[in-house]
Amino acid sequence: MIIDAHVHLFPNEGVARDVQETFRSRYQVGYYTLGTIKNHHAEMERCEMDYAVALSFAPDNQLKNNNFWTVAVTRPAKRRAALYPRIIPYISVSPTQKGRTPLQELEHKYKWGMKGLKLHPIAQHFAPDDARMWPVYQWLVQHDLPLTAHCGINVRPDEDTYLAHPNRWLDVLKRFPGLRLTLAHMGGGFWEDTLRICRLYPQVMLDTAIAICGVHHASIKENWLSDNEALEMIRTVGAGRVMFGSDYPWIDPFRDIQRIRSLSLSEPEKRMILGENAARLHQII
Ligand SMILES: [Zn+2]
Repeated sequence: MIIDAHVHLFPNEGVARDVQETFRSRYQVGYYTLGTIKNHHAEMERCEMDYAVALSFAPDNQLKNNNFWTVAVTRPAKRRAALYPRIIPYISVSPTQKGRTPLQELEHKYKWGMKGLKLHPIAQHFAPDDARMWPVYQWLVQHDLPLTAHCGINVRPDEDTYLAHPNRWLDVLKRFPGLRLTLAHMGGGFWEDTLRICRLYPQVMLDTAIAICGVHHASIKENWLSDNEALEMIRTVGAGRVMFGSDYPWIDPFRDIQRIRSLSLSEPEKRMILGENAARLHQII
């Protein structure tokens, strides 16, 4: 079982190009592929991947459309089966979104089959411990749904990293101890603080996106662990709490899978990281 717990997908080439060009001009970071959902489908075949978690988020003015599209392509419609049933849809909300309130949006998309929430504190400009988010966390606990949050450096260390510091989750986890939180990028450079949170809150999971990466890339060096560092983190947290995630379309998932397979872990540990943990989190097995 292989599940990529961290991908970003776009509905068509136009949208993908817009996002990629904005990203490239802001960060001078190239991408592995455009990242349309069609591109990704071929990628899943190539990697023999069973499922992928689409972590959808967008600025406030595009949030509603983005959420709509994400669930629309993963659920069956009246006269047809789901277009992409192997994509696990996460939507996003923000405390400043217009139109529906975050709770109304969650309720609406829950009926449509969304399976979790993605937050990107830097890109969405709010801190995880913003009290306006308490009802959202409460709602997630009540519905037993997972939350993945971008954690740590977002390409450029000078860019509002304080919003995505893992310690911004301490107060949240104290108030909502049942929150099923995944810290993306294994903490994105704040390794010790992330380990401390994992020790305090046994339900917190990590995804490997960028942190254990099969692609050597100068611009992501700060977020990237050596084999020994990666092993040490996995051993400290336990292989049962780490999920393979690629950050497709910026990263080639195939090379990440190969890198994880090359680490000196046992076969059962590799199976857990590459898919079984994510399957359990999403109640697939
Ligand atoms: Zn990402």
